[in-house]
Amino acid sequence: MSEQIETISINRRGLMLVLSSPSGAGKTTISRSLLADDPDLSMSVSATTRSPRPGEVDGKDYFFMEPVDFNLKVNRGELLEHAKVFDHYYGTPKKAVNDALSQGKDILFDIDWQGTQQLAQKAGDDLVSIFILPPSTQALEKRLKTRAQDSDEVVARRMSKASEEISHWAEYDYVVINDDVERCISEVKAILKAERVRRIRRTGLLPFVDQLREGY
Ligand code: 5GP
Repeated sequence: MSEQIETISINRRGLMLVLSSPSGAGKTTISRSLLADDPDLSMSVSATTRSPRPGEVDGKDYFFMEPVDFNLKVNRGELLEHAKVFDHYYGTPKKAVNDALSQGKDILFDIDWQGTQQLAQKAGDDLVSIFILPPSTQALEKRLKTRAQDSDEVVARRMSKASEEISHWAEYDYVVINDDVERCISEVKAILKAERVRRIRRTGLLPFVDQLREGY
């Protein structure tokens, strides 16, 4: 008779996975791939005062809002962090994050270094931060141009901002170079997999080990 093997599931706290990079380094592609086959991971949808780009959907890509409504959210304390990035305000709604974490689910954030610093202060060990570097300046510029969603002027401004964003690389837990998107995705997945089994997150380990030691 074959012995039935039980799968053991240990309860754990959810984690906050931050991806930052200069615009055009491939964060969106990486995020989509992570979300596509991982039911325990969801995306934090930010609020922003910038206008939607072609194809962007309100409530899915961002919550697009007027500056006055954004301010209201800030004043009511409804944002976990917020920052001004390229003339517009961006911020992370608090409630969705708290709901997911309390259910042991992980949340993915596409936010800049300013937001990451604020989350690091608030989230402590719940935060795992990854900085994505482009392989070269030329590759970054090419990606921004082929994205074709922004005007030449916007592309030029994003390029001049890239060096400032990159200067914060050392504030992150991990740094991944996006020279090959598939490899980059598998590295980010490996980081997530390892971070999920860190002892400090696995709140169910103590009762499990107690049972083991009692002979169950
Ligand atoms: P984009 O306008 O290209 O969608 O985003 C511009 C920059 O704003 C990106 O670097 C992105 O990571 C950052 N960003 C998007 N949402 C947030 C947010 O909620 N908070 C912060 N601090 N940055 C954000």
